Amino acid sequence: MMKYYGAIEAGGTKFVCSVAADPENYVSEIRFPTTTPEETLTRTVEFFREQKEKYHLSAIGVSCFGPLDLDKKSPTYGYITTTPKVGWGFTEVVGVLERELDLPVGFDTDVNGAALAEYKWGNPKGVNSLVYYTIGTGVGAGVVIGGVPVHGLVHPEGGHILVRQDKEQDPYDGFCTYHGNCLEGLCCGPSIQARFGKPAQELPEDHPIWKIIAGYLAQACVSQICQISPEKIVLGGGVMEQKQLFPLIHQEVLRLLNNYVKHPMILEHIDEYITPPALGNRSGACGAIALAQALDSQ
Ligand code: ADP
Ligand code: ZN
Repeated sequence: MMKYYGAIEAGGTKFVCSVAADPENYVSEIRFPTTTPEETLTRTVEFFREQKEKYHLSAIGVSCFGPLDLDKKSPTYGYITTTPKVGWGFTEVVGVLERELDLPVGFDTDVNGAALAEYKWGNPKGVNSLVYYTIGTGVGAGVVIGGVPVHGLVHPEGGHILVRQDKEQDPYDGFCTYHGNCLEGLCCGPSIQARFGKPAQELPEDHPIWKIIAGYLAQACVSQICQISPEKIVLGGGVMEQKQLFPLIHQEVLRLLNNYVKHPMILEHIDEYITPPALGNRSGACGAIALAQALDSQ
């Protein structure tokens, strides 16, 4: 018999709640917009109350927009903390689900979840360490090493790393409310829209901005390579639908590294090293299943 898990992809725009055994075996799903915490979490609980009985759920995983408190010793463990999303600052998530559903809850950032899903199900070579970037409404990075999502003081915030900007080429001040021209400030979808007054997906694929965006993303990859030395870097999210970005990023990473990191994955196989998600746009949703399953091995 299959073992089913509850999976919650908790995004700033929408919640996707589903029941699945693994990415190939989904049995039900509901989507609704992220409104107030009360309304949104109530709908979530109502859905899973029914599903729990029907599918004998053993655990729930939540892959959540952040920042989050992931420190199990903290009084606000399992909370969304200092999010700029109106009404959602310091919202308890894990405690509410545990109390209302009486199930164990696995909880992590959406990008750590996606990184874990890519590690488990999008990793035919069995690499041991992986960085997952999403470049979408925001930019975020998840890191998995040895099958475990990395936490530290808080959790990785690779979307806000600082990059060099050539203001002559790209005079834009940046979209990040905290840092202006950090990686997210220069590469998120809304920053592209702010530069040109129309959504990123409406720009032609040979627009000069793509080379500039690829340059910033290459800098981010180089920082990850030099800091973490991951065995794979996955770039997902809406902006990466522009597939022409990949070869531009590959070339620029090689140029920036300048032969310093001498590994065949980089020098000979960079197109297999920095890749789109194997799970496509499902890595976020699959992340929540992975976080629920991870409770089994604890
Ligand atoms: P979210 O980050 O909200 O989960 P997405 O990853 O889909 O969602 O990112 C949405 C952002 O990606 C928007 O800013 C949108 O303009 C941009 N985007 C979506 N599709 C494309 C595309 N084909 N090309 C470039 N940008 C895109
Ligand atoms: Zn920032």
